[in-house]
Amino acid sequence: MPRPIQATIHTEALRHNLAQVRRAAPDAKVWAVVKANAYGHGIERAFEGLRGADGFALLDLAEAERVRALGWRGPVLLLEGVFEQRDLELCSRLELWHTVHCDAQIDMLATHKTQRPHRVFLKLNSGMNRLGFAPAAYRSAWTRLNALPQVDEISLMTHFSDADGPRGIAPPMAVFADATRELPGERTLSNSAATLRHATDAAVRADWVRPGIAVYGSAPDFPEHSAADWGLQPTMTLAAKIIAVQQLQPGDTVGYGSSFTADAPLRIGVVACGYADGYPRHCSTGTPVLVNGVRTRLVGRVSMDMVTVDLTPVPDARQGTEVTLWGRAGNGAWLAIDEVARSAGTVGYELMCALAQRVPVGVD
Ligand SMILES: *Cc1c(COP(=O)(O)O)cnc(C)c1O
Repeated sequence: MPRPIQATIHTEALRHNLAQVRRAAPDAKVWAVVKANAYGHGIERAFEGLRGADGFALLDLAEAERVRALGWRGPVLLLEGVFEQRDLELCSRLELWHTVHCDAQIDMLATHKTQRPHRVFLKLNSGMNRLGFAPAAYRSAWTRLNALPQVDEISLMTHFSDADGPRGIAPPMAVFADATRELPGERTLSNSAATLRHATDAAVRADWVRPGIAVYGSAPDFPEHSAADWGLQPTMTLAAKIIAVQQLQPGDTVGYGSSFTADAPLRIGVVACGYADGYPRHCSTGTPVLVNGVRTRLVGRVSMDMVTVDLTPVPDARQGTEVTLWGRAGNGAWLAIDEVARSAGTVGYELMCALAQRVPVGVD
């Protein structure tokens, strides 16, 4: 028998979340962001649930090839553009739209031989200070691109640093409005957080929104809002089974470092999931977990192949009982990935992306 651990990707939930995003930005086109192998879900596995998007955005050229191999003929956008000259050949061949965020990428385009001119997204650095032209350099970059025979259409793009938090998006919005004033072309600004929190403003929605995490059923601004608050459903479940049960007496400890000590008799379950499966090692005693769909807690340290859970609220749990590390349990109960992430001091994004290769993944 294979080790009793399994991840499941929920096609219907992907579809539902995409519809929720559309509801938030009804007049915008939607890029489904599928970078990092669709946030750990697997591009091929997520595709059916996301094919209702207007385009797919990602940053790895091999992933763009996979999207085309699935038969997708619509827009595909490289969010970081090309990394070297020959990447442009693939852009021409697969008709990829690509971000242009620096002069070196314009130089590459200027010497690229192509039959078909490219559609590019000119990126403005509106304060994040990762990629993009400074506001003062933006117009001259646009003018240079506009003069190239290799370029067909120029769209305008920026990315927010604080759409999920109290700083908000007003300052970068003002920078973007100023730098792009009277320039023609479609605009795209909003990630999930901006789309859900700020898209009542048409200028924020713009022509395209670029949701990633919301599509995968995690709240971009947890714990201020939960996924359920935003009407989002979990798209990934990580489930395993109890492989052993231990009866502890007061004073007994659990696991490496004996970090947990029972102060009363306690039944615990040993679960076939550890950090080598992508479950975060930083989760400690108290992290929520579902046993048979009933909420309980982790006790002791996460080890490579196992975690230990308190069985007090589930007295009938035994070897073979289902444990949901995150996502949806058999009885329909949910455990938000964001709650587990918070226990580990991180975000839902990281947990999804870190699902380990050794975990078998199914699609429902
Ligand atoms: C990853 C990414 C997104 C999606 O961000 P979420 O927070 O997952 O919605 C949007 N735009 C760009 C440029 C990105 O790199």
